[in-house]
Amino acid sequence: MPGNVILEIKNLHVYYLTETETAKAVRGVNLEIRAGESVGLVGETGAGKTTTCLSVMRLVPDPPGVIVDGEINFKGENLIFADEKRCRAIRGEGISMIFQDPMTALNPVMTVGEQLMEVVREHNKKLSKAEAKALVIRSLERVGVKGDRFNDYPHQFSGGMKQRVIITMALLCEPELLIADEPTTALDVTIQAQVLDIIRGLQRETGASMLLVTHDLGVVAETCDRVAIMYAGNIVELGTVKEVFRNKRHPYTEGLFNSIPRLENENRRLMPIDGLPPNPADLPEGCAFHPRCRRRLPICEREAPPMKGEGHIYACHL
Ligand code: SF4
Repeated sequence: MPGNVILEIKNLHVYYLTETETAKAVRGVNLEIRAGESVGLVGETGAGKTTTCLSVMRLVPDPPGVIVDGEINFKGENLIFADEKRCRAIRGEGISMIFQDPMTALNPVMTVGEQLMEVVREHNKKLSKAEAKALVIRSLERVGVKGDRFNDYPHQFSGGMKQRVIITMALLCEPELLIADEPTTALDVTIQAQVLDIIRGLQRETGASMLLVTHDLGVVAETCDRVAIMYAGNIVELGTVKEVFRNKRHPYTEGLFNSIPRLENENRRLMPIDGLPPNPADLPEGCAFHPRCRRRLPICEREAPPMKGEGHIYACHL
């Protein structure tokens, strides 16, 4: 049963500013995550999912990225006002992130063991070298990497094995919140399920909360307690997995579900969503989804819809 709110994102706006344009990547996101809870963040490429995660980590590249408004409260502390030293401390202990591409998250000229040792010793300065090494080996073995690979370099690992190393690195800090940004996208399909199982198992074992970014609704169904559907920089529907999967309220959510194949209904026609997501530097007036929405009303072109509902909420004029 999820506990107290540990992360509260309030009215978050993040823009990327260049000399010629302002890309509004995140536009008023509100999201809470409770202790032990797992929340899926779903949407097409460019919806602002990664920018939301990077904002929580305070890793939005600046310039060109700027958090222009909002709050990111982690256990009651607004991270927007945290200085770099404080952000580093929180990244080390409170919040860890597993990035999409394991290739770029490891240092190619250091052995995997050295990199993990650095994390352990930064996190727990009292451990001796031998104790830290024993902890690293135990942690690697927990995710199915043999301890004798401690002295290997990242290029000697397959993609799936590298992602296991990254998971080990993220969990060595014993985070209270784990952010996993499409953790299996760069991996071979045959090992995606294994890696997800590892993440899910460890998250449950440690009691950490998780924000899982994915475009795969099947993964959400298996992994998450609640799901937030994101479109053009905002959350358009949010609720428990059961509520959203059984009773989709937003036409965009419906579109996402209609565009995935189902084994039990082979003859069903897939209905991809018309058109493409909008350019965040040139968003349509009114509801950002209206140019693609088959159910739009005249008001949709003029007015952005307010969020409706309680618990299971959605932003739509219908
Ligand atoms: Fe479609 Fe209008 Fe709802 Fe937007 S507000 S999703 S355009 S019906």
